[in-house]
Amino acid sequence: MSKTSYDLSTINAVVFDIDGVLSPSTVPMSTDGVPMRMANIKDGYALQLAVRKGIRLAIISGAATEAVEKRYSALGFHDIYLGISDKAACMRQWMEDNNLTVSETAYVGDDIPDMPAMRMAGLAVAPADAAIEVKRLASYITVAEGGHGVARELLEQILRAQGKWMDSKEVYSW
Ligand SMILES: [Mg+2]
Repeated sequence: MSKTSYDLSTINAVVFDIDGVLSPSTVPMSTDGVPMRMANIKDGYALQLAVRKGIRLAIISGAATEAVEKRYSALGFHDIYLGISDKAACMRQWMEDNNLTVSETAYVGDDIPDMPAMRMAGLAVAPADAAIEVKRLASYITVAEGGHGVARELLEQILRAQGKWMDSKEVYSW
């Protein structure tokens, strides 16, 4: 696993991008030319566990698909913002509405439109296959590539740092 000097025990809120983060950068396309999304099941486990352990989760994505909304609201995401063109404005409002400080907030993004929002988070995270500019900005680059366990890797590290990973019987159920 990748290492960061950031104190992960302070993280209480995490924002995820969809394409290139929770779903891979390369995905199948439907016959009418619409990119499909993919979901990583091990991410799913860690995401719902993180919610149960009190971490606030949000999605800020330029994409707008019903499948994404259904999948991630079912996993307990508190806030799902789709079809967002100005991610930094959305991030600013979300942090304000939830009284989140910079240092307790993480943002996971993979491409140039994520960069202004990433700069607003205490912990900027990039998948291994993120754009080079984004990786330069990130203080944590995951071993996993986008769509292949980025959320699992990050949330496992955060929950471990907080003593909340494999800490009770409830971790064996969804
Ligand atoms: Mg992306």
